[in-house]
Amino acid sequence: MKIAIEALTELVTLVLMRHGLSEGSASIVSRTIVAAERDGSRSHGLQRLAGYLSSLDSGWVNGRAIPILHERGSGALEVDAGNGFAQVALEHAAPTIRSMANHAGCAVMTTRNSHHFAALWPDIEPFAGDGLVALTMVNTRSRIVAWGGTRKVLGTNPMAFACPRKARPPVVWDQASSIMSQGDVLLVSAAKGQLPDKVGVDAQGQPTVDPDAVLEGGALLPFGGVKGGSLAFMIEILTAALGGARFGFEDGSGSIPGALTSNAGQFLLLIDPQKFGGAAFLDRVERLVAHLHDAGTARLPADLRYERRRVAERDGIDVAPAMHAYLEREAGGG
Ligand code: NDP
Repeated sequence: MKIAIEALTELVTLVLMRHGLSEGSASIVSRTIVAAERDGSRSHGLQRLAGYLSSLDSGWVNGRAIPILHERGSGALEVDAGNGFAQVALEHAAPTIRSMANHAGCAVMTTRNSHHFAALWPDIEPFAGDGLVALTMVNTRSRIVAWGGTRKVLGTNPMAFACPRKARPPVVWDQASSIMSQGDVLLVSAAKGQLPDKVGVDAQGQPTVDPDAVLEGGALLPFGGVKGGSLAFMIEILTAALGGARFGFEDGSGSIPGALTSNAGQFLLLIDPQKFGGAAFLDRVERLVAHLHDAGTARLPADLRYERRRVAERDGIDVAPAMHAYLEREAGGG
């Protein structure tokens, strides 16, 4: 069935509030979940809602957290999310970090004691919409085996980059450090399907195409072999060593029944191109994009999402009847 974006956002907000999230935070988290569903990022849309609720119910996440901002220098902002959701911390800090970047030319924000369970592109697309170049990274609980190791230490650590364009929506890419995100593995498991080769290993470290063997004690592999492992390592450093968050192996959620989100960190870098290439910057971006199109590239990252977004804004979001019944039930109306 089709549900209008606003109506779905209100329903998800209600569900989150019934599980202990404050109204303001519920509306922020709900917008992220619905944005993913709207744009077809299904691995991090409604499928994730049960995980948010489970973490809230277990007491692992503080639904009433109030983020605290510490300005450490003209371009350095530290945020303690208070064991709440990362999107709430970002929403609180966004005006400060944006103005720091405008003033200094670039600014770095680190967030610790936060739970990020979503796609990353919704965090940075708005900054690029305002003309800033944005790069963000998040660490997660240990989920990949890398660099020849036999045990998972690094997370699936996603990263996303957003670049403004001239009179067009930004180019935004967003990807995990693993070949496949945990969310996609869950989708394959729910569909009773098999993983492609070389995506994951089972609890004994043996290659497997069984998604449940990966989810239950197994591990994912980094994309691009050692190179994906290197990126996952860098992200642990920027979030947990620099930002003071927990490393993936320190998160502790694995031992708390019902805790599905990781207590980890986020790194955000904003650059104001006006302080660098100035007016020429956007022309240079367009020149590069034109060359890519000329070379045969039809789709840039985010193009497909923008197209799906246009359709969802016009027709509403397709929600499976079982999911709709679940939402109504959790919201107390069914
Ligand atoms: P995908 O492999 O689905 O996509 C990676 C990027 O490649 C996207 O930006 C996508 O653009 C782009 N892309 C894909 N195909 C093409 C193409 N043919 N031409 C041009 N661009 C293309 O991402 P992942 O599976 O690695 O990650 C999925 C999500 O999981 C991400 O949103 C990530 O943030 C999230 N995640 C979140 C975690 C968390 O703890 N919060 C942990 C790990 C992952 P487009 O967006 O347009 O499809």
